[in-house]
Amino acid sequence: MQVTHTIAEIRAARRELGGVVLVPTLGALHAGHVSLIHAARNFAAKVAVSIFVNPTQFGPQEDFTRYPRPIENDLALCKEAGVDLVFNPSLEEMYPPDQPLVRQAIVDLPALTTVLEGKHRPGHFHGVCQVVAKLFNIVQPTFACFGQKDYQQFRVLSAMVDALNFPLEMKMLPTIREPDGLALSSRNIYLSPEQRTQALAISHALFKASDDVAAGIHQTNRLIATMRNILLEKHLAIDYAAAVDAQTLKPVEQISGVTLLAIAARVGNTRLIDNVLVQR
Ligand code: AMP
Repeated sequence: MQVTHTIAEIRAARRELGGVVLVPTLGALHAGHVSLIHAARNFAAKVAVSIFVNPTQFGPQEDFTRYPRPIENDLALCKEAGVDLVFNPSLEEMYPPDQPLVRQAIVDLPALTTVLEGKHRPGHFHGVCQVVAKLFNIVQPTFACFGQKDYQQFRVLSAMVDALNFPLEMKMLPTIREPDGLALSSRNIYLSPEQRTQALAISHALFKASDDVAAGIHQTNRLIATMRNILLEKHLAIDYAAAVDAQTLKPVEQISGVTLLAIAARVGNTRLIDNVLVQR
């Protein structure tokens, strides 16, 4: 496994390779990331992982500085998972302090980025598109793998790839969960044991609504009410509990085509997101 820190290094390493699949991450890797890495193997002969806590996707009040950065452990996990190439750049490498224009280079897809996460985290998707566009141009992968856990991110980045003709294929892989349903997240380490129990309400709410759809309940106001009640019962602060068209991310009144049920809620200071896709 080759570990690179500069754009020049990864470009040189990448030139020796044929097809490469990229798995972009913020690090603090867990079994969800590892499953992405394993799945990535199916798409190209070589697997690259980027580990970079991107400041431009964090809001001023968010957890950029305290976000975990266990780089040695991350590298060990990558090695164990058979990663070929790691890109772990410094902040200065990605956003040179003497080039302030770099942070101004954004991709704007407001129809997809001002709803759900975008509404509650203004500017978040500007940062996500910015860093991922840079990573795509730096690594030049033939495929890129993302988790359904961040469904809106996948949808926004797919739209960016389509609109701007990035020469790669986007792949979405399933959300990996703890046996009790909690979606794996690097932010779960912030949770106390009691908060972890509370946080289970998020996946329970999504599973209950999903079961309700299977049982024939198609009015989304009923599904949303069910989800909200489960979250409130466990005293979570709800940012949103929504039912939206999986392509447009616009609210739907009835489940007809593929619909995203999505929740963002706070347990103490920790903000968690999760979702499921349902279909009539
Ligand atoms: P992050 O480091 O949180 O930005 O995540 C990097 C990638 O891993 C993104 O594509 C996420 O959607 C994906 N990911 C995060 N958590 C999970 C999970 N529990 N299951 C599957 N993929 C995940």
